[in-house]
Amino acid sequence: MRISKMLMPTLREVPSDAEVISHQLMLRAGLIQKVAAGIYNYLPLGYRIIRKIEHIIRREMNRAGAQEALMPFAVPSELWRESGRWEKYGRELLRFQDRKGADYCLGPTHEEVITSIARAFLRSYKQLPQNLYQIQDKFRDEIRPRFGLMRGREFIMKDAYSFHDSLESLDAEYQNMRAAYCRIFEACGLKYKVVEADSGNIGGSASQEFMVLAENGEDALLSCAACAYSANVEAARSMPEKQRAAAGGQLKEIATPDQKTIEEVAAFLQIAPEKLIKTLVYYYKVGEKEDYVLALLRGDHQLNEIKLKNYLRADIVLLAEDSVVEKITGAPPGFCGPVGLRNIRIIADECLRDLRGGAAGANKKDAHLLNVEAGRDFKLDEVADLRQAAAGDKCPRCGAPLKAIRGIEVGHIFKLGSKYSEAMNAVYLDQNGDSKPFIMGCYGIGLGRTAAAAVEQHFDERGIVWPAALAPYHCVVIPANLKDPELLKAAEKIYQELLAAGVEVLLDDRDERIGVKLNDMELIGISSRLVLGKMLAAGQVEFRLRGASDNELLPAASAAAVVLKKLAELK
Ligand code: ATP
Ligand code: MG
Repeated sequence: MRISKMLMPTLREVPSDAEVISHQLMLRAGLIQKVAAGIYNYLPLGYRIIRKIEHIIRREMNRAGAQEALMPFAVPSELWRESGRWEKYGRELLRFQDRKGADYCLGPTHEEVITSIARAFLRSYKQLPQNLYQIQDKFRDEIRPRFGLMRGREFIMKDAYSFHDSLESLDAEYQNMRAAYCRIFEACGLKYKVVEADSGNIGGSASQEFMVLAENGEDALLSCAACAYSANVEAARSMPEKQRAAAGGQLKEIATPDQKTIEEVAAFLQIAPEKLIKTLVYYYKVGEKEDYVLALLRGDHQLNEIKLKNYLRADIVLLAEDSVVEKITGAPPGFCGPVGLRNIRIIADECLRDLRGGAAGANKKDAHLLNVEAGRDFKLDEVADLRQAAAGDKCPRCGAPLKAIRGIEVGHIFKLGSKYSEAMNAVYLDQNGDSKPFIMGCYGIGLGRTAAAAVEQHFDERGIVWPAALAPYHCVVIPANLKDPELLKAAEKIYQELLAAGVEVLLDDRDERIGVKLNDMELIGISSRLVLGKMLAAGQVEFRLRGASDNELLPAASAAAVVLKKLAELK
């Protein structure tokens, strides 16, 4: 392609509304253009990158035995009502009406639509398993669209869904997809980690995220320094620490005027915060049922609300308001505790199981209890992992310390089970002729986010340094002076040779200063360049790989052949 004919709107200035480097560079390189919040045009150069990611994904999905289909962007509400998500999905779901007043949404994900395909066409266990995927636009009315393609409202996703007649078959496909995803992100040239993720209240270790490691990543992760355990903080577990045994004395009430926070009370009573019982009153709702629950933690631990929500299998959990806490416990928050409360469900974090000699609010303003013992002074019927794991905690698998790192979630694989097939009555006939709901898995990759994540990992002070597999072009031929016909002729010749060899090559035939041309190509991240200048008189051209700091002189006559060889080494 001749650059003089291209739409390549590069910018010198850093756009003021772009906070992260990938967003800044993608705008400056003229890859994308904002149309509205979280909605972008993919300009020709940017779209080439998306197409490359798409190609890698398609190749690996097909190789893994998945079949490509395409579902609609506009989805009738009926399907979403069947699954119950029309009401539950919240405001990320963009709903609208057609001219007849019928309700629709723009698909943010396609479990409902795919389940309707399975329901219509998969009748027998003999047709299972199946895995269908699509590469398609999604719309989510994100509350905070930001960082360019990283968190858009309209974005391109590869979503795949598999259907099975047994958990073993689902597990095999889950592993198959996991391996395919590893090949995809490797082929994209990305450094990534597969981490344990929150699998909602469906349970198990049935969900993993593919995280591109980057300092600016939106996701906080914990990673074991010694073994392979890594997890999103939302889902991270840690090895429960045993409470040191203390003498079991008698319960004793003690005045703690105005000592509300854990730190204040611990200092006032001169005990370690870990001996205090943090007592939180939560409202929760499961279907139509609403109730309150007491969540207990060690004073130095934080509650992980997602774990509480999953444990309760709740749709919503909310910290109760002060007035509710007073009504239930008789004391304002800060002075409430589990002792003596019989009419409320109590869930204790597993680190409290062996607590003796602890302290807790006395359910009376300005008073606490000492010598509290778990099981003796409050019921321990329900014990669960409720705490937020933190850096420095022990790895749940091997006990080595967990480290905090950050990442960008580019892919997600998930065992869905029969949640959607049951809700939508999507069934097949098993070997005995009984009808059974499909067991399902789902697997997503964000294409735009993958491109943005690649930039976060691959840039320097001059611009983007694309991994070769994603670079929009692999070589640019730059005649330094357009007025010199010899230079132009030689440049044209090398350009044609590279084109004929199938190289994705550009010819910078713009009437611009050489400095401007070099800056543009480095900003965009073209993998290599050949500059034809004064050295051509001596039969030489200057070659440089993007990211290298020196030129290499190549004989003009064999330049194309050498470039071909060097590019092959990049891949
Ligand atoms: P997040 O927690 O970042 O909102 P998610 O868990 O909602 O992501 P999934 O529903 O699993 O994401 O979607 C699959 C993939 O789609 C994600 O791994 C990500 O790559 C991509 N994706 C999700 N939301 C967006 C978005 N708003 N903009 C761009 N890509 C997105
Ligand atoms: Mg989301």
